[in-house]
Amino acid sequence: MEIIIGAHMPITGGLSKSAERARELKFEAFQIFTRNPRGWRYPELKEDDIKNFLNASKGFSSINTHMPYLPNLASSKEEIYKKSVESLIEELRRAKKLQIKYIVVHVGSHLGEGIEKGKERVIKTVKEALDSVPCDCHILLENMAGQKNSVGSRFEDLGEIISGINDKRVGICLDTCHAFAAGYDIATQAGLSKTLDELEKYIGLRKVMLIHLNDSKSGLGSGSDRHERIGKGFIGRKGFENFFKAKELIENKPMIFETPVNDYHEYLEDYKTVMSILKNME
Ligand SMILES: [Zn+2]
Repeated sequence: MEIIIGAHMPITGGLSKSAERARELKFEAFQIFTRNPRGWRYPELKEDDIKNFLNASKGFSSINTHMPYLPNLASSKEEIYKKSVESLIEELRRAKKLQIKYIVVHVGSHLGEGIEKGKERVIKTVKEALDSVPCDCHILLENMAGQKNSVGSRFEDLGEIISGINDKRVGICLDTCHAFAAGYDIATQAGLSKTLDELEKYIGLRKVMLIHLNDSKSGLGSGSDRHERIGKGFIGRKGFENFFKAKELIENKPMIFETPVNDYHEYLEDYKTVMSILKNME
């Protein structure tokens, strides 16, 4: 089975460092933040940074960016909505300059306004952003972990949002930790087959363009977004052995670790765990 592995890489020292780090670990894919993920403010990308990144990132099979955390695409608060659209437009512009195809976005929270309103807002926000920046960049909506007021924890909601946006530049990033925390039991055979059926029914497997491969520090259906190293959480080694049977979902699809590491070299342990599971399955 052809698989593509990568990880979220730090950009400390410059954007191009992320690519160098991924190459050092012999990964074929990686993910970055193009700016501080915890703020609204950001510096312009400098010509030199773009050039260095484009040079350093040659040859990878998949690169993606992750939107900062403050924008909330599902908010009906006018000010947050405006800032979120601006932020998404800016991320599309940055991705275009850096020649990065996929932008991962947390769908957001309706903040008590109700899921229907939340979905309408997400559709409006994403449409507006995509219309503003003509490019081949795709916006990948990431499934949420089932937190209170979250929009996009259920596949049926994500499916409705995708149909509402109706643009081929929209897809899904499936996070294994979030799915598990939202109640999709990918760790058991019966749970996985039900999950795949629902994914196909409401969204379509071909719309899943990226996978965030994370174990979960919280239990099935806990509604809590806490990532864990592969094999060390509630999904566990056995659970991933089961998940990797979903060949139709994972084959040739970039799988990105966002596991809690102190240093990016530690991703190699997650990589070894994954490879040893896959080897045992042969
Ligand atoms: Zn994720």
